[in-house]
Amino acid sequence: MPGVYVVLEHDQGQFAPSSGEALTAARRLGAQLNEPVIATLIGPPLPAFVELCELYGIPLGLNLLDPQITDYGPELWGQAVAELAVLREARVVMTTGTDRGNEVLAQASARAQVPFVANCTLAEFNGSWNLTRMQWGGSLLEDVTLTAPSLFISYAHHAIEAEPVSADTSTQLESIEFNLDPMLCRSLVQDRVTLTEGTTLSTAAVVISGGRGVGSAEGFEPLEQLASLLSGKVGCSRAVTNNGWRSHADQVGQTGTRIAPEIYIACGISGAIQHWVGAMASKNILAINTDPEANMVTKAGYAVIADLHEVVPAVIAEIERRRGSNPSS
Ligand code: FAD
Repeated sequence: MPGVYVVLEHDQGQFAPSSGEALTAARRLGAQLNEPVIATLIGPPLPAFVELCELYGIPLGLNLLDPQITDYGPELWGQAVAELAVLREARVVMTTGTDRGNEVLAQASARAQVPFVANCTLAEFNGSWNLTRMQWGGSLLEDVTLTAPSLFISYAHHAIEAEPVSADTSTQLESIEFNLDPMLCRSLVQDRVTLTEGTTLSTAAVVISGGRGVGSAEGFEPLEQLASLLSGKVGCSRAVTNNGWRSHADQVGQTGTRIAPEIYIACGISGAIQHWVGAMASKNILAINTDPEANMVTKAGYAVIADLHEVVPAVIAEIERRRGSNPSS
């Protein structure tokens, strides 16, 4: 059956937070093309799969099975998607442009010999495909026209907001069993090292980052305190990781993590383009900087032009004062 096939990213049965974005984008594309949308799960069945499809109004869920797919393997997953695309004559295969999403579609498109456009912010079909995609970490938007009848697309992570449907929908489940070549098991996840627990930088609702203006590793202590009061995470710029003040896992930007919090508080960060591309999906930005001309200040919705070493402790003191008189505020 032709249609828009959306590959859902999961890790050991945990759907990636980006799955809602992928399903929303697929639903919109399916409506535009007048094609059915089929959500695709690779690997052993998951009870949460149907639940997720119903939440996003996707009527058909397809489980791709192979006894060798016990965990993530780019070649195995890519081959399964390629075989699916050929078998079902898929009009579009899509996912979110996370590292894993792009890796799977790159593998699949090469195997199925179908063009792949990564990190799109827009995809429309009017006799030919008109796509806009992010290049150079989002600092360049490229318009692409393609005449290929079918296509693989990844949507840039955070380019689309996940939008569940309000109406009750039910999802029918199907499965396809493959018998993939054992050679494809060459790269398969064997083990994991847990670096973070709970909320991560990329999913946190509040991110408080420090830049060179913080001045030292110890200078991050008040930022940690503020993040803890606001249930947020601490990030940083590359100047900070270059100085060895924080680990690379905390870096926001082109060569760090892309974030999309409700509020981003950037303390002593100039807002260089490589940092900005990682922060620009934030819903609100508050810049604390001594320089009123700093890029981060001019781009932020809110700014405090002052020394962060005075502002951050003052904000902490005010939150504590208010919570002291009303702990729920
Ligand atoms: P600076 O640019 O030095 O800015 C410091 C800011 O702090 C200034 O605006 C200053 O006014 C302010 N300030 C100083 N003291 C105070 C104070 N007491 N109170 C308040 N404000 C104060 N950078 C990233 O962040 N992430 C990336 O992923 C990344 N990837 C890169 C990839 C490449 C290929 C390249 C070439 C660069 C990359 N960079 C990245 C580096 C980037 O270009 C900038 O050099 C870096 O972001 C600057 O960090 P900063 O804003 O902390 O420092």
